Amino acid sequence: MCEQAAPTVGGIIVNRDAPPAVDVSGGTMDRADIRTVRERLRDGLTDGVIVAWTDRFSRAPIEEPMAIFREITAAGGHFVVAEMGMDIRPDDPHGETMLVHSLQQARVQYLQIKKRWALSRGNAVRAGRAMGVPPFGYRYVDPTPRRQSRGVVDSRLIPDERHAPVIRELFERKAAGATWLELARWLNTAAPKPDGQCWARSSVATIIRCRTYLGEVRHGANVRPDAHEPLVPPPLWRRAQNEPGRRTPRGTYLLSGLVRCAGCGRNMQGSLRNGTRVYVCRTDGCLAKSSVRTSLLDAESTERFFDRLQSFHVQAVTGEQLAASDGEVDRLTGEVERLATIVPTHAAAIAAHQRALTDAERALSEAEDRRDQLAHSHAHDGPDVRELRADWPSLTMSERREILRAAVDAILVRRSSRRGLGADIGERILVLFRGEARAELLNGRGPIISWAWDDDPVSVRPPPEHLRVGGPSSPRHRVDRMGAHRTRRSHSGSA
Ligand SMILES: [Zn+2]
Repeated sequence: MCEQAAPTVGGIIVNRDAPPAVDVSGGTMDRADIRTVRERLRDGLTDGVIVAWTDRFSRAPIEEPMAIFREITAAGGHFVVAEMGMDIRPDDPHGETMLVHSLQQARVQYLQIKKRWALSRGNAVRAGRAMGVPPFGYRYVDPTPRRQSRGVVDSRLIPDERHAPVIRELFERKAAGATWLELARWLNTAAPKPDGQCWARSSVATIIRCRTYLGEVRHGANVRPDAHEPLVPPPLWRRAQNEPGRRTPRGTYLLSGLVRCAGCGRNMQGSLRNGTRVYVCRTDGCLAKSSVRTSLLDAESTERFFDRLQSFHVQAVTGEQLAASDGEVDRLTGEVERLATIVPTHAAAIAAHQRALTDAERALSEAEDRRDQLAHSHAHDGPDVRELRADWPSLTMSERREILRAAVDAILVRRSSRRGLGADIGERILVLFRGEARAELLNGRGPIISWAWDDDPVSVRPPPEHLRVGGPSSPRHRVDRMGAHRTRRSHSGSA
């Protein structure tokens, strides 16, 4: 268009390499193509500018393109509008009017399109339809391209089974203080890109800040909070918005720092293996290299923790017992008061009444003692096991971890003797509660030591040779099983 217009106004095109204005947004005048023209005019490299269509030149508020027009013409430059076939001069009121009119028309059209677009985006959001590429971890309900138009058949989002668990873990790792680089490296193994490229830190940051994972679809001011299934619960999403790079040693696994490989006594690391969270032994030279599914070990250990807690609370005072005791005190108080109002007249009756009153007062005093004792132990009883059990699912990961760490020294995990996935979890673990673990186990340095235990606490026998790990050179350390049959002696913090 510009090529055709150039000769009609007696000009030639001198800068064909000018940045094309075809795909630029006309809503602003701060653009590379405009800047280039202004610089070239200033440097005397061109005599003017040819604009193909006014709506390409500007859809910004009228004063902005007009300021450019005046700047160019004031410097003696030509301002040619090809579609109008005019070289508009600053002293030509007719040309200027046409330019203003044309620019304003382009602006009106632009504003209308913008409004329509906002409207359709609003509709899309209300319908829960996502726009653009589905975020990592999601896929479209139906990604079939729509015929004869852009977009797909159904752009609502559903979790992508392969990557949804990765997203969840990514947020947990971020919340636990991983750096962007650590997260990107982790994604390289947890969810390698199909093209073999590495994950960029900026991509990780984009994922963490993306509210789509909360179930939201959002375009500008349009928000629908429950558009699709969230991959990340709001508390976790908020925690993941923390400053990156704050390292915490315990990571995002419930039992990190507590789980130890029975083959070497060293900490097992939380890790993702084929999309499943596991604790694994990574100790060089360990012959057992135990590994166990996180969900299995977490559940079994938590269960044993509650069993243990239960055993401490056999004598636990319940609210009902306390209420019953209060009732007894009230009843006996009433009895004493009733006897006190009786004034016997016969000598025999006086003696009998006196005895009854003394007995009633003694009974009341004893009941009061019992009540005070119960109230005292109720107050010093620590958490009610049933209440804690009921609360457990709603506690955060770190709250649960803190509670477990207060009660448990270590959890030893030995190699599975079967091939099945953790069918024998109960036989494979030994929970060492507070004060039960030996110092050599807890300090975790020095030579590799393998640990063994018998399932029967009464018969202490070396295990069969073929089940031994660690080899003949490793000293075998025996830890005995301490279950619910123990007294509350070793319970920490109980008065
Ligand atoms: Zn090991």
